[in-house]
Amino acid sequence: MTGRFAPSPTGAMHLGNARTALLAWLHSRAPGGRHLLRFEDLDTGRVRPWAFDTIRRDLEWLGLDWDAEYTQSERLPVYAAALARLTAAGETYPCTCTRREIVRAIQDSAGAPHGAEPVYPGTCRTCPAHPSRPAAIRWRVPDRTVCAHDALTGETLCQDLPAEVGDFVLRRNDGVFAYHLAVVVDDALMEVTDVLRGADLWPATPRQVALQEALGYPTPRYLHVPLMTDYRGERLAKRGGAPPVQALREGGEEAGRVLAALARSLGWDVPDVVSAAELLPLWQGHLARAGFPKTSQT
Ligand code: GLU
Repeated sequence: MTGRFAPSPTGAMHLGNARTALLAWLHSRAPGGRHLLRFEDLDTGRVRPWAFDTIRRDLEWLGLDWDAEYTQSERLPVYAAALARLTAAGETYPCTCTRREIVRAIQDSAGAPHGAEPVYPGTCRTCPAHPSRPAAIRWRVPDRTVCAHDALTGETLCQDLPAEVGDFVLRRNDGVFAYHLAVVVDDALMEVTDVLRGADLWPATPRQVALQEALGYPTPRYLHVPLMTDYRGERLAKRGGAPPVQALREGGEEAGRVLAALARSLGWDVPDVVSAAELLPLWQGHLARAGFPKTSQT
């Protein structure tokens, strides 16, 4: 059993990130498994160099240790190799369409769904790439429906890849590998068996499962946990002014009180001060009540 916490070092961790980090750690450690820390820093324009160390310190302060640390920007050759395999199989194509051209193509396409996530209509599948523009690389998604299953919530999410997802970008035109490719390659090469992460990534799970299948990787077990919300019911966001864990740590707050608050936000009955290790049996109880691992009904 191997689990991971995979923060994007784009800013300080807020309490919502800390709760996901805590649950990922509890899930790895409760059965005595390995726990990895993986910095997802491929989107260089959004990375804040100070965030790596702040996140490490926040995790250490909370008592959430890890067995190995990885940084995606140091692993570009493995993503390039995976992309090359898909390209060799004829599953990718270069795309030099601009954002505006894509929006126009979506508007012009007959069955454009209203309100739904805009789906790239595959305009560049057949037309030649513009020679003087840098090309993004898109995945020619298989013409089928792919389902993802969540072992914690029991949900199954099926998506018709061409109609609901579209040929998504694997490498941007500035050379940055896409998150979906990197996460799939890394979870496979790092032998991650259980992916516990925020529920915001659940809608992206079927396309990641499809990529795993195309690359011949096993599909890990997924557990999506709710994002923490504020008193208005809005999810905490780095940009929305959610208090950073760093501020609590540096302001002299006790880590055990923060852990107790996070545990209580999950409805767990805990004393005012707890350690991460003391929460291990509560996570096991949580899993048992949820009937984990829930198997797919399909
Ligand atoms: N790096 C992503 C994030 O911070 C998480 C990716 C994942 O857990 O699959 O939202």
